[in-house]
Amino acid sequence: MKELKILYLYPDLLELYGDYGNIQVLRYRLEKRGYKAIIDRYCINDNAPDFKSYDLVFAGGGADNEQNILSEDLLQYKDNIKEAINSGVFFLLICGAYQLFGKYYKGVEGNIVPGLNIFDYYTEAITDRKKRCIGNIVIEANLNGKQTKVIGFENHGGQTFDITNSFGKVLFGNGNKFGDSEEGFMQDNVIATYLHGPLLSKNPEVTDYIIKYCLDRKYNEDIRLDELDDEFENNCRKQLLEKFIN
Ligand code: GLN
Repeated sequence: MKELKILYLYPDLLELYGDYGNIQVLRYRLEKRGYKAIIDRYCINDNAPDFKSYDLVFAGGGADNEQNILSEDLLQYKDNIKEAINSGVFFLLICGAYQLFGKYYKGVEGNIVPGLNIFDYYTEAITDRKKRCIGNIVIEANLNGKQTKVIGFENHGGQTFDITNSFGKVLFGNGNKFGDSEEGFMQDNVIATYLHGPLLSKNPEVTDYIIKYCLDRKYNEDIRLDELDDEFENNCRKQLLEKFIN
């Protein structure tokens, strides 16, 4: 049985707005197709994970306080993470985790949380706690050449700058900063985004894009994923898209 090994980073700290749901959706869409999902959780002071040995690394959102708590622990793995990304391991990073893979995150109190500096972007929160990007969001992403509407929910004070390649164009909502036309950051094996929701529960095509990438890379095949019955998901998407962008 083919399988994917998934590393779930800081499940106790980066678990804002139900981002654990992304792990549940990955497991569901793998197992429904007869693939095995092996999910390892890593918390602060656990044994160092070998990032390169995984197919997919996931980290969710976190409040400023939690980002402060885990930053020092995360930074010790910078070289291993960089090596894993360069070798093609897929990274799915939501909000607070997204921010920590850039140069730094400047919190609402003005404190600098050093990032891994693997990507050139940086994030600074507005010092007025009431000024946050909060609400539903719809972007248009390019997944293997297919323009795909991606639906989510954003809640971040952080404003992200110097994005070279966004995850998508904003059709509704804010994006990387108030009134931005771009959202998130993407490269072949990295999706970093502000979209909670959880992201994957609202966007089966994004989930399948990630699953196919990981299986193709691991088994060196052009795997055709069996279609799943997404009637419920698609009905929800239709209602949300009619509400937000039609
Ligand atoms: N604490 C960060 C911010 O406010 C990230 C929030 C989140 O992960 N939703 O921008």
